[in-house]
Amino acid sequence: MDCLFCKIANKDIDSDIFFEDEELIVIKDISPAAPVHLLIIPKKHISSIMDIDDLENSTMANILVTIKRIAAELGLDKKGFRVVNNMGPDGGQSVDHLHFHLMGQRKFTWPPG
Ligand code: AMP
Ligand code: ZN
Repeated sequence: MDCLFCKIANKDIDSDIFFEDEELIVIKDISPAAPVHLLIIPKKHISSIMDIDDLENSTMANILVTIKRIAAELGLDKKGFRVVNNMGPDGGQSVDHLHFHLMGQRKFTWPPG
């Protein structure tokens, strides 16, 4: 399958890897929108949040716990941070492989654009 994040997870394409376990890879976003901008990506190909199934419960819990742990490690919990998932064209999803943005070390506005 011609999927950028599958290739990154398989190490067919180089990326700046921040953390990795059996299920997840966390990389630095190539075009950061904040001083901290990480992408939390399940290694298994899941196209979007709409393609998560019940079998993925433990992976999804791992994603949230990993976000929490990294946020704490980086001290982002002191002032806050933002977690984003974009879905589909209106959501602004540009890579069709599920991922969550973890952004911090600046103040974000609401609502987002
Ligand atoms: P989204 O628009 O929510 O689908 O997010 C995709 C993100 O992937 C964007 O923030 C891009 O900057 C980022 N991105 C695209 N290509 C790469 C890459 N090769 N390595 C790291 N991040 C990437
Ligand atoms: Zn993929």
